[in-house]
Amino acid sequence: MIESVNLDTWFDSLTIHLKQELNLDECVILLSESTEDKFNDHFTHPLALDPEKLLHLGRYLVKYYDQNLRAKEAVLLSTRLEIESTGLQLDVGVNSWQSISLHSIVYKQFYWGAIALFYPQARQQWSEAELACINSAANHCAIAIYIHLLQQEKEKIVGGLDYTFHECRQPLSAILGLARMLNEQIYGSLNQKQLEYVQAIITSGEHLLSLTNNFLDLAKIEAQKEELFLEKVLVQEVCEASFSLVQESANRKQTSLVLAIEPGINFCIADPLRLRQILVNLLSNGIKYSEKGTVTLKVTKNDQGLYFTVQDTGIGISTENQKKLFQPFAQISNTYNRRQKGTGLGLVLSKNLAILHGGNLTLESEAGKGSCFTLYLPFRH
Ligand code: ADP
Repeated sequence: MIESVNLDTWFDSLTIHLKQELNLDECVILLSESTEDKFNDHFTHPLALDPEKLLHLGRYLVKYYDQNLRAKEAVLLSTRLEIESTGLQLDVGVNSWQSISLHSIVYKQFYWGAIALFYPQARQQWSEAELACINSAANHCAIAIYIHLLQQEKEKIVGGLDYTFHECRQPLSAILGLARMLNEQIYGSLNQKQLEYVQAIITSGEHLLSLTNNFLDLAKIEAQKEELFLEKVLVQEVCEASFSLVQESANRKQTSLVLAIEPGINFCIADPLRLRQILVNLLSNGIKYSEKGTVTLKVTKNDQGLYFTVQDTGIGISTENQKKLFQPFAQISNTYNRRQKGTGLGLVLSKNLAILHGGNLTLESEAGKGSCFTLYLPFRH
């Protein structure tokens, strides 16, 4: 929840809640100087009539009691006199509060700042219930800040990777193009060893390119920048186009491909390239994870939508491993898998694309008995 909520709004509601719960005059979340540097905004939330004064005061106190707060000690300034003993100039008359307490915001050894509570009366101590409430609020604050910073870091890293992968694509395409030309032996014949090496370059290059493309696609979806180009897609056509893209690898694995479309199904509304991408991914997985088997693509419908089911007769996936699928880089570890070249991104990407279409991608499988992936696409008008 915290991840999806704007930190500003979240702090606002927290301060309002504390103010009501503890009958406070004011409540402010103050970040330490080093934490503030990490944010573009201050994230300080005064609900006071004179927020600037209150902020100034709070910042002064957080700095003054820096050591106590870093040591996770709460600070109680019981009277105005005690507050003034810190050297702080109080502008009496503007504010009615009489005492202040400061509570550190700490998470995983990281000190972010403090919550400052302004009480209407002079006071010497807190009740257990009050303390529990304040501590819990401070913990929530700390976790929210932590997640926010993690999110910022993640965006930076993904942005960097995004750029790197983009830059990789062009030289990679050049390497692949030239290697394919050599493989076709247009400019002279190659000996057995040379052919073997050129084919290894092509296989590794294709693997790297699909990893790059999958990563860029996923990053785009995560950043909610992926756009679908929906149109009327002929089901037979998209299925046959997908088959033709995987036919060669099926031949290599001596696996037969079967297409069965329920009578009465003609077209669907989808992004044709994305739909083909999902089908190709499911079909090539079916081929990759079976030996001399059969991979069947069935298309059926009910009154909700269309179901594209890809069934194979391969190694299957245990119930335990099924839980790990649809997570990025989830290559299940087994001896068979280690021999296969994969990116561990195909299924996550396919599921995300299915969801973008308003549909879903699900799996039924049993180890040793093959797998069955179903892409559901709802009817659209
Ligand atoms: P990869 O590029 O590694 O195949 P995917 O996201 O497509 O990445 O698949 C993730 C993992 O799921 C694979 O590494 C494999 O362990 C498992 N898997 C996917 N499809 C099948 C299948 N049809 N049969 C058995 N295992 C599969």
